[in-house]
Amino acid sequence: MTDTSTGVSELHWLMDMLQTVDVGLVVVNADYRIQLWNGFMENHSGLTPRQVRDSYLFDLFPEIDEDWLRRKCDPVLLLKNRAFTIWEQRPYIFRFKNYRPITGNADYMYQNSTIFPITDTRGNVSHLCFIIYDVTDAAVSKLELQSMNGQLRQLSTTDYLTQMRNRGTWEEGLKQEFNRLQRYSQHQSSLIMCDIDHFKRINDTYGHAAGDLVIKNVAEIIRKSLRSTDIAGRYGGEEFAILLLDTTEDQASYLAERIRRKIEQAEIIYNNQAITFTMSFGLAERSTFIQDYIQWMEAADKALYTSKAQGRNQVTQYTTDL
Ligand code: GH3
Ligand code: MG
Ligand code: MG
Repeated sequence: MTDTSTGVSELHWLMDMLQTVDVGLVVVNADYRIQLWNGFMENHSGLTPRQVRDSYLFDLFPEIDEDWLRRKCDPVLLLKNRAFTIWEQRPYIFRFKNYRPITGNADYMYQNSTIFPITDTRGNVSHLCFIIYDVTDAAVSKLELQSMNGQLRQLSTTDYLTQMRNRGTWEEGLKQEFNRLQRYSQHQSSLIMCDIDHFKRINDTYGHAAGDLVIKNVAEIIRKSLRSTDIAGRYGGEEFAILLLDTTEDQASYLAERIRRKIEQAEIIYNNQAITFTMSFGLAERSTFIQDYIQWMEAADKALYTSKAQGRNQVTQYTTDL
């Protein structure tokens, strides 16, 4: 074989490889008009090299954020640097459908890319080359792991029956708020502890499932009565705790009274039977004599105990002589 024919076959091989390699190759000129479009790009976009030749990249793919990509490419053109994009930043440059069987639940192909400069014979950057990598498998695994961790966190911090904070998470919130109040002592916050009256009777009369339904409904009534800054939790079986930020004890008492009335009026239908019930409340404002959040809870609990002792279905505010 002559040198020329060897050179020609090598070129032929190179062109073949360029066409079949499993990454996207795109070359654009400095005006972002497409000059090269390999087989990967053709297969995934459905557009042939002839169809895209000389098209303005951002016209052909309006989903590309032009400002963002130009900001990435400017240093490549001006400084001959390489640039990279990763799926965590933007899931893709070209929105292609995802056909992978294993990660078939991803709607589109996640892509990383490398952008590098192509120089002319005088060493000036005349073109940009994009290499597009399909990283759907890795991206989907990572996202699934993250969401699994999120779900685990959710499970470990949330009460499954009411979807409220569980005791541990709620107490953590209380502790943080208490510490904040120590620093900003002009803020007033209040604490409500409440407990369903004669709940054992509900379980005994209607069954445990009915009791569960009552607990769920109480949680719903409480949730609907609160502002977004209030922190409610299921403290124990049929016991709830509510932290009211920037709320005086009179305001808290007003709120507790409203919840008490709503619960008194509620009628839970279970197996065609109407269940009615009541709830007792104790509340305590944070005051200077309270040293830590445990004492604060004990104060609200004492007030709750007084409500129970005085006949239930009532709200009691903590005072030092309780
Ligand atoms: P009191 O008015 O003094 O509060 O009377 P009570 O009957 O509510 O007394 P107590 O707090 O001792 O009873 C709570 C009962 O709640 C005991 C327990 O069997 C029941 N319980 C605790 N957790 C659950 C739960 O998740 N579901 C149901 N159905 N019952 C629960
Ligand atoms: Mg009870
Ligand atoms: Mg109880």
